Amino acid sequence: MYPPPLTVESLFTPQLAMLPGQDVGASTRSLHADDILNVVPDVTPPIHVATTFRYPDDPEKLTPAAELTGGYEDNKTSHVYSRLSAPNFTRFETILSALLNGEAISYSSGLSAFHAALVLLNPRRISIGNGYHGCHGVIDLFTRLTGLQKLDLNCPAEQLEAGDVIHLETPVNPEGTSFKIEEYAKKAHSRGAYLIVDATFAPPPLQDPFKWGADLVMHSGSKYFGGHGDVLCGVLATQNKEWSRQLFKDRVFLGSVMGNMEGWLGTRSLRTLEVRVQRLSQNATNLVSWLHNALQTQNPSADSDEDVTQKALKEVFHSSLQKSDESWLLKQMPNGFGPVFSITMNEEEYARKLPSKLALFQHATSLGGVESLIEWRTMSDTTVDRRLLRVSVGLENWEDLRNDMVNAFRALVKG
Ligand SMILES: *Cc1c(COP(=O)(O)O)cnc(C)c1O
Repeated sequence: MYPPPLTVESLFTPQLAMLPGQDVGASTRSLHADDILNVVPDVTPPIHVATTFRYPDDPEKLTPAAELTGGYEDNKTSHVYSRLSAPNFTRFETILSALLNGEAISYSSGLSAFHAALVLLNPRRISIGNGYHGCHGVIDLFTRLTGLQKLDLNCPAEQLEAGDVIHLETPVNPEGTSFKIEEYAKKAHSRGAYLIVDATFAPPPLQDPFKWGADLVMHSGSKYFGGHGDVLCGVLATQNKEWSRQLFKDRVFLGSVMGNMEGWLGTRSLRTLEVRVQRLSQNATNLVSWLHNALQTQNPSADSDEDVTQKALKEVFHSSLQKSDESWLLKQMPNGFGPVFSITMNEEEYARKLPSKLALFQHATSLGGVESLIEWRTMSDTTVDRRLLRVSVGLENWEDLRNDMVNAFRALVKG
């Protein structure tokens, strides 16, 4: 029978319904996990723009709302109204469920996903580090509504109670350095609290937070899932079926669904996720390694690449430089490090001017696209060192990115 019958279990296994008993790789899942929803002869998904869908013609097949289970599976193949579900973003979620090893629910933005996570868990306390400033804005909303209290990420475990949340962003904004997920999962669970991991900076295949004890995995899909700087969306994934059902029900009333066009663009982007992320990760790690080695070079000859780099650049931050953490980090990120890193310059003026001297890096916020971006981070985040720039490495050839940076350093120190 084709397509095969759809079950929730079939959504998040490394197997495809069409190839039972056979584990398949991430790219194969990216291209085929949604085959079960392909009900037209088109090879690439059609763009569905409808907000409302006809009920079945057969009166026997009409299920009144009160008889629906309210679960996600009710709406996978038969859609009613696009605030509940729609074909394009359902395909997007189906692929992501297969990639994230949990049931994926999509939202209109990363922050609306985080908002939905807090609505689900409604913690009294949340332990959180610096990380992405927008998540703190969502917490402030909750503090206003519910009195939610913020605790330091490294607060003593005793300060957490059952139902509280540790929110761990790793790799973390803006540095791109990593925290040990397993350690925070153990801490949360020892108190009956939950661990949310914001894994935006390490999309599949780089890191699987469920493997280390995460209860809820969050992504700003506006970054690597969209991957081309043209889709705003967010994703939650969970292996807890009660939670996924509740998240799905809640979203109907939060109203924060992805748009139809975004769902289509997102599906299109996921087809290339693994190859994009692998190349981005290699590019970033090569670039970081070159910069780091240039800073370590003893007595570089005057005006050499290493010399101008040392004069302009103070420090480089990235998971690949966490040598003392390798024993756990290489297990947590077995397929490469994240494509974002940060640098600090020797002077604030250098940081302000660096983007204007670069040809290939565009000066813009956000990350995760195919183009290389750099941001003088103080432009959008009030909490950071004003000498810091965040780099989102793109798909350009990394040697060209290095040359661009060195040329810019040279222009800065000469000028
Ligand atoms: C961008 C980002 C968010 C917020 O996502 P939006 O899609 O912009 O709402 C959350 N966490 C991290 C780590 C991010 O980079």
